[in-house]
Amino acid sequence: MAHIIVTGGAGFIGSHTVVELQQAGETVTVLDNFCNSNPEVLGRIAEITGTKPALAEIDLCDREKVFAFFADAKADAVIHFAGLKAVGESCKIPLRYYSNNLTGTLNLLEAMAAAGCKKLVFSSSATVYGDRNPVPFTEGMPTAATNPYGWTKLMIEQMLMDTAAADPSWSLVALRYFNPIGAHPSGLIGESPNGIPNNLVPYIAKVAIGELDHLNVFGDDYDTPDGTCIRDYIHVVDLAKGHLCALRYADTLAGFKEVNLGTGHGSSVMEVLHAYEKACGRELPYVIAPRRDGDIPRMYAQTDRAKELLHWEAESDLLTMCRDSWNFTKKNV
Ligand code: NAD
Ligand code: UDP
Repeated sequence: MAHIIVTGGAGFIGSHTVVELQQAGETVTVLDNFCNSNPEVLGRIAEITGTKPALAEIDLCDREKVFAFFADAKADAVIHFAGLKAVGESCKIPLRYYSNNLTGTLNLLEAMAAAGCKKLVFSSSATVYGDRNPVPFTEGMPTAATNPYGWTKLMIEQMLMDTAAADPSWSLVALRYFNPIGAHPSGLIGESPNGIPNNLVPYIAKVAIGELDHLNVFGDDYDTPDGTCIRDYIHVVDLAKGHLCALRYADTLAGFKEVNLGTGHGSSVMEVLHAYEKACGRELPYVIAPRRDGDIPRMYAQTDRAKELLHWEAESDLLTMCRDSWNFTKKNV
């Protein structure tokens, strides 16, 4: 049994990962400042797993507190989700993004080093493939950023790479997520963004529950079969399980490795809408709207490395993802 620190463990992906870790018998401490989550989620985790994870309510930017925490924690490994994640917001307040995501990660890595804990799994993103690569995206492709959020992911990957190059006793895995959606099948935890959602599935969920009138489909004139953009949607529980596999892999890794977590399969905006209609049992209104700035027509993962190194593969299909999202939405209005 290991002691795993999960930064951002109260958030969407973090909370699902805490559930999987606890169900696998690990001891978990959630480190979060709740800037984009609610402490209630820890009770929800306890309802699912029977155990409430320990909590360290700390801002990763508070260097002294982070060092003091790690000095006592006896941590075996860290999964690092904590960060700000909204692309559009990152263009409006870039310094807040650089400050939170980079300072937080620097404090974390230095505190880990001081405490002798050198195993970390990091939440990176498929956004690091930029807008020039052909699909499917493979880990060896050149990386690029098109917004401050993406730059923070690239810069952190660089920090991890340099750290591992200087001292290969670190084991550092960057997981490049594609599009996580869905919710835990219990309906107790899921994604509930404040205000009007930016992302497709949370937006459709609000249309389905009647809080929003219709979906705006951003562009139907892309060079794709139905003209709408294609993304690689992955069930958040599959993604969470990928973190356990990444931790096991980190046990054998000397250095740094980046690994895609996706299904390897793309779905269009209209396909997602239709799957959600099936899940909620009614037609959902939509209008075709202008393209959204910065969207690329297609992205989906090449998944060979995850299969080979992590022995992990996504299992859920799009309909299951939409059913679980709808179940969570209905139970949490
Ligand atoms: P989320 O906002 O639900 O969770 C992030 C958590 O981190 C929140 O609980 C927040 O309170 C916490 N946090 C943020 N800054 C902090 C700080 N300075 N100190 C302590 N806690 C802090 O986001 P999520 O969707 O669960 O994403 C988790 C990670 O995965 C993020 O790093 C995100 O960039 C990355 N990611 C997410 C997606 C996605 O589509 N959701 C895709 C690719 C990568
Ligand atoms: N999208 C849409 N309407 C919305 C939100 C998103 O048509 O209200 C489209 C968006 O243009 C993109 C896809 O859905 O093609 C996925 O968008 P999301 O923001 O969820 O993920 P990302 O673009 O970051 O991969």
